[in-house]
Amino acid sequence: MPDDTIQEWARIHDEAIIVDVHAHPSLKVSLLNRKLTSYFGATRSFNPFSVRTDFRKLNDGGVDVLWSTVYAPERGIIDDCRCLNIFRFLMPFKWRKVFGQPYFNVTDQLLDDMEEQVEKSEDPKTGKIMAKMAYSVKELDEILGMGDDRPIAVIHNIEGAHSLDGSVDKLQHFFDRGVAYITLTHFYENGIAYPVYPFPGYVRKFGCFKRDRDLTLGLTQLGEQVVEKMIELGMIIDITHCTPPARKQVYEIVGNRIPIIASHLGAYEVNPSPYNLKDWEIKKIAETGGVVAVIFMNYWLMPHETKRGLNFITRTIDHFINVGGIEHVAIGTDFDGFTDPPDDLKDASELGRLTQRLIAEEYSEDVIKKIWGDNTLRVIRDGWGRKE
Ligand SMILES: [Zn+2]
Repeated sequence: MPDDTIQEWARIHDEAIIVDVHAHPSLKVSLLNRKLTSYFGATRSFNPFSVRTDFRKLNDGGVDVLWSTVYAPERGIIDDCRCLNIFRFLMPFKWRKVFGQPYFNVTDQLLDDMEEQVEKSEDPKTGKIMAKMAYSVKELDEILGMGDDRPIAVIHNIEGAHSLDGSVDKLQHFFDRGVAYITLTHFYENGIAYPVYPFPGYVRKFGCFKRDRDLTLGLTQLGEQVVEKMIELGMIIDITHCTPPARKQVYEIVGNRIPIIASHLGAYEVNPSPYNLKDWEIKKIAETGGVVAVIFMNYWLMPHETKRGLNFITRTIDHFINVGGIEHVAIGTDFDGFTDPPDDLKDASELGRLTQRLIAEEYSEDVIKKIWGDNTLRVIRDGWGRKE
């Protein structure tokens, strides 16, 4: 590669505001006691102990805004995979913290844990503050205006409305804490919205997670109230993991009142899984002003023999752009969500590879910047009710 090409991709990547719509460093912090100021090795193969989004990797990958996902582990997991009960004995304190109290309390604790990491994000060597919480649009813009050496802006989101413990009123609490979006459902039915089967099919080989999901079920009455309340507050609605009927109901209720997002998935036309969005849905989300964010995991994008997946990511980006337009595509890596990222883009420090690939596929600088962050920033500024 000639020198000027190398500099060109680096310049574009550096200038772009890089936003990851969905990543889970919080799981590694709260379950594995990882400190995000440390640099952890990340393997190319699936490894639940790898940390792919510590602050140093995020910084190396040029991430400007991390939409940090908090997930209170659902009890269905331990019913579905009995061998996990071993952790009850290996990590009794952690076990009680995660499974011994209501989801609402667990979620609050996980948000606290993440904030503590951000508060202690001073680089031990340089003294630089590596990350800063943004609890409103104004705070986000202040961080983004801090110049080249600015900290990563971290905004909260919650995966799975089981965190509400069945109470619409609890939305206000999370809104006040600065949670900008909630994924309505996750692995199991939660009294609000029904989920699709959320695991790669191969996990069943190990005798775990055998229960199918009922794809005819959608939003419950409580779910409809939750959606209405989220619109009223200005909490962005994420339809990832919802069944097709639940997604349809959300589109109908929301209309064009608030941007809808899909934070980490692929395209049904590329990989026909009910987890992924059909073309009419991509258009629908675009009409709300929202974004569809591409997950970094081959299994959902296009299951294939190869472990490399950059080409599947750009194939999906291509499709989303062709159907929904250049203003409505984004990136939601799902790094550190116990996922298996592609071998050629295994952690946040390697995000520049996607920029290189997009340039090689003749995407313009303007479109690359939209995909990386401009589209998502628009959604945050328009959709998030915490302006000040
Ligand atoms: Zn997910």
